[in-house]
Amino acid sequence: MNNNGSSGYDWIEAGLKELREQGLERTLRKFEDVGGKFHDNAGKSLNFSSNDYLGFARNEKIIAAGIAAFRSYGASAASSRLISGTLPCHSELEEHLAKFKGYPAALAFGSGYLTNLGIISALVGREDAVIADRLAHASLIDGAIMSRANLKRFQHNDPDHLAKSLEDEKDAKHRLVVTESVFSMDGDLAPLKEIAAVCAEHNAMLLVDEAHATGIFGTSGTGRVRELQLENKVDISMGTLSKALGSYGGFAACSASMRDWFVNRARSFIYSTALPPASARAAEEALSILESQQTLGQELLKRADIFRRRLQEAGFNTGKSASQIIPLIVGKNIKSLRLAERLRDKRILAVAIRPPTVPEGTARIRLSVTLDHSQADLEQAADQIIDAGYAEGIL
Ligand SMILES: *Cc1c(COP(=O)(O)O)cnc(C)c1O
Repeated sequence: MNNNGSSGYDWIEAGLKELREQGLERTLRKFEDVGGKFHDNAGKSLNFSSNDYLGFARNEKIIAAGIAAFRSYGASAASSRLISGTLPCHSELEEHLAKFKGYPAALAFGSGYLTNLGIISALVGREDAVIADRLAHASLIDGAIMSRANLKRFQHNDPDHLAKSLEDEKDAKHRLVVTESVFSMDGDLAPLKEIAAVCAEHNAMLLVDEAHATGIFGTSGTGRVRELQLENKVDISMGTLSKALGSYGGFAACSASMRDWFVNRARSFIYSTALPPASARAAEEALSILESQQTLGQELLKRADIFRRRLQEAGFNTGKSASQIIPLIVGKNIKSLRLAERLRDKRILAVAIRPPTVPEGTARIRLSVTLDHSQADLEQAADQIIDAGYAEGIL
């Protein structure tokens, strides 16, 4: 019964109870700090659930750039981009992003999620098909659903199955293939060269989500599309400003005419307030730092590699991880929750990831390594994680 005496919402209580019983309930926990390390009254903890891979969210230069933008533009862009919300900070960020990614143009959105909703639904409609990797991020799937195009999934990282799926959809007016360059829950890498070749052969459009590659892979962290020199074969390289760049927002890098199309047709761009000026400026400062330091991503990948090898040698299943994202795949939901709890007791913060975020039966702990973790931190953490694995009977 709710407080106005109606029992019309009993289904919510029942639904929550069911989630709880399946080990699938999600709850919010409050943190005092962001980044790879945090302190509370009990001392230092290591945070392995942050996407602030380079520690940029607390970078002094980036914070200063944001503060300067607050001062000059105010706290809000106060309008959507097509009304009066396009400010110099937006145009300059977009020009910089285009150059950074090696594309003629770029368009900034309110978030990475909004970017995928907007660009996919602008590119395809009822007569078209979206062919998505089976593990593609929810925002890519939601964009496809919003577009009303026929949605098909291809086997994870399987270019042959992609080719077959494209063949199956050959009657669609337009076909759009979507994948991630670094997968968010597995940390493995898409075979982008092969996928791009299949798309070219079948005359399909290709969108690559570089949310977890931007800032990390390639010289200066320009991402895997540029690292593999695929700018001419990947029609849209999207990314977020909210992960390695330490800010908030999203973007699509593409041709100039495609950018114009998105301005006219991407509903999440048109009907939403422009990116806050401070977020735009902070992200742009992050690009400048990446360009001047060039090897931050490589350093992170090197540390992650040593850490992953330790965990693998101890017997953990880290799947095909080859990035700063390292899953410890344990299978059962409850088991992943128990391991997370045990790690928390050891002052290691790592979150259990369960279905529907990952496929049924592949519940896991997702570890993300950041530059806030020193070599010594990682060695110590590996010992603790291995102890916890034994204690839970996983090793
Ligand atoms: C996080 C993420 C997004 C969404 O980006 P936000 O800026 O957080 O909305 C999109 N795609 C992938 C693969 C992601 O991991």
